Amino acid sequence: MLVDAHGRVVNYVRLSVTDRCNLRCTYCMPANMKFEQASELLTDDEIVRLIKILSFDGITKIRITGGEPFLRPNLISLIDKLKSIDGIEEVAITTNGVLTKKYIPDLISLGINNINLSLDTLDAAKFEKITRRNKFKDVQECFNIMLSHDMQVKINMVVMENVNTDEINDFAELTCLQPVSVRYIEEMPFNGQGNGFSGINWHYQRIIDTVKSKYELIKLTDAPNTTAMTYKIPGYYGNIGVIPAYSRTFCGTCNRLRISATGSIKTCLYGNHMLNVRDLMRSKDFEDRNIRSGLHAAINARFIDGFEAEKYFIQDQKESMSIIGG
Ligand code: SAM
Ligand code: SF4
Repeated sequence: MLVDAHGRVVNYVRLSVTDRCNLRCTYCMPANMKFEQASELLTDDEIVRLIKILSFDGITKIRITGGEPFLRPNLISLIDKLKSIDGIEEVAITTNGVLTKKYIPDLISLGINNINLSLDTLDAAKFEKITRRNKFKDVQECFNIMLSHDMQVKINMVVMENVNTDEINDFAELTCLQPVSVRYIEEMPFNGQGNGFSGINWHYQRIIDTVKSKYELIKLTDAPNTTAMTYKIPGYYGNIGVIPAYSRTFCGTCNRLRISATGSIKTCLYGNHMLNVRDLMRSKDFEDRNIRSGLHAAINARFIDGFEAEKYFIQDQKESMSIIGG
């Protein structure tokens, strides 16, 4: 098992399959983001080998992320291979929904029924401002098709002051007639620009208070290791939740590991890249046990929480979330 020095078991990997994206969300990357050469990315064979090593050490869940995962060629075939690895119980995906529509039948036949869809506004013009691309209709269509196939859709909404806080309750209302989960995410300082992010005014409590100002809320029991505090509006089908990604109240139960598209490992969102498994795998005398010992050492060195990790973070917050994978 992968266990850190604070006794936390790591059994969940967030796997970025590409750093590329077809949107340019302002909170995630600069307009002129530079991307890696394809040869720098982990190949399908490398990913499969890596996940086999990790599953042997107790990883049971993978979330495919990016960049935009559906920009990776042959993603469906890669997911198929990952799903059939012994010990992998769940493969999930986070997507911006721009290209996702045409893959829905494949996802359903692979048994991937729950999708995290990132959507920060219900207004087309605002969508274009946030994402710097005119793709709202595609995302909206994808959302509707997923619902028509009874997929479990979780909407990720990054809450941004003076941008979309006026829509917090519109998103809550989406849970009225459909089994949708809305997740309000505190904005984090990973916009790839390091442009003087000095904290947030919309903390999780303020977000919840905003919903409470309009609706009665019932607190739900949160799943173990979850990052979200979840609630339900009585009589509504779906649920809402808030992710204190900046306040970091969930570090005590963190069970995750992040692998970038180029094989770089992070054991904490707010911490340094700890080692590069692609370089290990491409070295002449590579053996699986090199990765295992590297990962065990990296996980063992994990800080108690994101605030401690941040003190030693040498990328000085110019990192883009499209590299980290969210
Ligand atoms: N492109 C896909 C998408 O947008 O769903 C997957 C990658 S994206 C980096 C994963 C998640 O990170 C998205 O839900 C996105 O909203 C979130 N995210 C990106 N930058 C963020 C930031 N600065 N603060 C909080 N969440 C962020
Ligand atoms: Fe792309 Fe997702 Fe980042 Fe938006 S949040 S720029 S969709 S990777």
